[in-house]
Amino acid sequence: MAVQYASIIIDISHENVDRVFQYRIPEQMLPDIRIGSQVCVPFGSGNRTRKGYVVGISQTAGFDESRIKEVAGFVTGSVTADSRLIELAWWMKERYGSTMNQALKTVLPVKKRVRARNRQVVETMVAGQALSGQEGEAAIVRLNGQQQRIVEEFCRDYDEGRRRPYLIHGITGSGKTEVYMEMISHVLAGNRQVIVLIPEIALTYQTVMRFFARFGEKISVMHSRLSAGERCDQFERAKKGETEIMIGARSALFTPFARLGLVIIDEEHEGAYRSEAAPRYHAREVAEHLTQMIGAQLVMGSATPSVEAFSKAKAGLYKLCSLNKRASQGSVLAATEVVDLRKELEAGNKSIFSRRLKELIEDRLEKKEQIMLFMNRRGYSSFVSCRSCGKAMKCPHCDVSLTLHNNGRLVCHYCGYTVSMPKACPECGSGYLAGFGVGTQKIEEMAAQMFPQARILRMDLDTTSQKRGHEAILTAFAGGKADLLIGTQMIVKGHDFPGVTLVGILAADVSLYAPDFRCTERTFQLLVQAAGRAGRGRRPGIAVIQTYMPEHYGIWTAAKQDYETFYRQEMGYRQLMHYPPACHMLQMQVAGEDERLTGHMMDLIRDSVVRHFGSCLEVIGPVPAPVYKVNDIYRKILYMKQENYDILIRIRNYVQERWDETEDCRQLTIQYDFS
Ligand code: ADP
Ligand code: ZN
Ligand code: ZN
Repeated sequence: MAVQYASIIIDISHENVDRVFQYRIPEQMLPDIRIGSQVCVPFGSGNRTRKGYVVGISQTAGFDESRIKEVAGFVTGSVTADSRLIELAWWMKERYGSTMNQALKTVLPVKKRVRARNRQVVETMVAGQALSGQEGEAAIVRLNGQQQRIVEEFCRDYDEGRRRPYLIHGITGSGKTEVYMEMISHVLAGNRQVIVLIPEIALTYQTVMRFFARFGEKISVMHSRLSAGERCDQFERAKKGETEIMIGARSALFTPFARLGLVIIDEEHEGAYRSEAAPRYHAREVAEHLTQMIGAQLVMGSATPSVEAFSKAKAGLYKLCSLNKRASQGSVLAATEVVDLRKELEAGNKSIFSRRLKELIEDRLEKKEQIMLFMNRRGYSSFVSCRSCGKAMKCPHCDVSLTLHNNGRLVCHYCGYTVSMPKACPECGSGYLAGFGVGTQKIEEMAAQMFPQARILRMDLDTTSQKRGHEAILTAFAGGKADLLIGTQMIVKGHDFPGVTLVGILAADVSLYAPDFRCTERTFQLLVQAAGRAGRGRRPGIAVIQTYMPEHYGIWTAAKQDYETFYRQEMGYRQLMHYPPACHMLQMQVAGEDERLTGHMMDLIRDSVVRHFGSCLEVIGPVPAPVYKVNDIYRKILYMKQENYDILIRIRNYVQERWDETEDCRQLTIQYDFS
């Protein structure tokens, strides 16, 4: 048998996980050694034996053969949580095309400075809860028939070891969270541990407090705001078994529980589950692999499942459960009305409030009921352009429009560049420069003008940048301190405001034009979630969707809250265009300061990929990225579509090998994104 070498990390809790040491693998260990194996190796002066983890195996020695020592043996005992995470990192590296080092840093908590602050976070949350005056005791509700059936089936499957993932398709307010909590109780009773993922944006008092009220001390919460040291500390407690439930954003998935029995992913469709940094993984896919690896159960839930997840459920790979009525006594889904903005314009109404929406707002103010106005931010950022020559004011470093802020300055939201608003157009000298489109600040001003009696709160990136700004605003609104809440995406996610009986979506269709094949899906999700905010309490609610495109299927299916029809239409489009999940797609992005070199290298990659894999591959591009230039770096993208994921992985490896050997590539970066 050929000699093989193992790359081993000695101290995984150290930041330098890239400091790996190579050891020869003795022949008798070859059949059993694998990525993640825990082994003993001679290390340091005097060759003291230390424990380490195998993170790579290769046929070649990285340096002088004669100086390589030999692995002493396996560490006996059961497989540790850490070895499983290292195995998971290996899978992520392969699947998402990152380096092992990047994958390890993603799954392993790394120590920088350790400060124990978690308790404090929890305590401030509890204190905040007490102050906000909402009740905090664990009122265990009696599940209704639909909820009961799902929980019973889950318990049976769980006890009998059937581990097919569950997808709960439940309308907003149908009681998914209650179902999760019952499932958790069952798993805890069997002495196993639980990870609950919620999108970062929903990490608010309300969601987290419900879990606290029910499970108290057993819970640990992980915000992305925690420092690396705090995160590490949380993981340490989990490893020792001091907590039973970890609730948190994406990265909580890597909690090293020794007896993990269940992973729950709430709001499964959320974009926050996809990592923006390499490895660019999706928490749903990783959770699926992890639970399969260790025999744990996976449960996902959403009112608007991702097309990916729903298609797997349709194919029988997931078990599909539905909850189609509101759980709380007397609560029903909001009625939805679509207003055609073109008709408003025809009738001479140039305001951002349609006549119908205005009438309803006035009615609610009169009745002292609450209102939420939702603005789709992407299309409504207030960029400034010249009304005479049409030139838009752009950031000199990034290929995006500058945004006008209240203080009269123009700001680039990509790089932070700011400049005061020019008096005249730099292009033609005309003085007719004006803000175009409407930001949340502007809407607040207009609402204040039109409804002077209303008490208004605004929630967007500007008002929530202070620590806890987010919770403060939501708590004030929940406590009836305002009549009208204006905001972006943030206000539509997961909060329960029983006093809200009207939701206005000011411009529904702008997100339909984003340069992304998922844009209709996103629009649908946003609209359904936004409409779901109305009428969560006892009084019925109305959602008004203002749009220029009432005939678009993304709009009218959302207005009817008809997921199935939306799904069929959307799947038809994906199949026609060979987009995921009908096909797999690899996006390669090359970026560099040298525009010519960036383009040239992308062309070379395209040619060589087409030469080697062309017969079985659909290649599009290279094209400039949706934002071509950021911080003076140019970015180009190549799209490759293939039904077989493994072929895409082979292409990635093929490109990376050549990339590493090419001198010119040192000045550029390459990034892979699989979907
Ligand atoms: P979802 O997570 O699907 O949005 P929640 O679990 O938050 O739904 O439930 C919505 C509301 O209905 C909550 O106030 C919850 O306490 C209540 N609720 C859930 N299940 C029941 C039930 N079986 N009986 C009465 N109220 C319920
Ligand atoms: Zn001009
Ligand atoms: Zn910029």
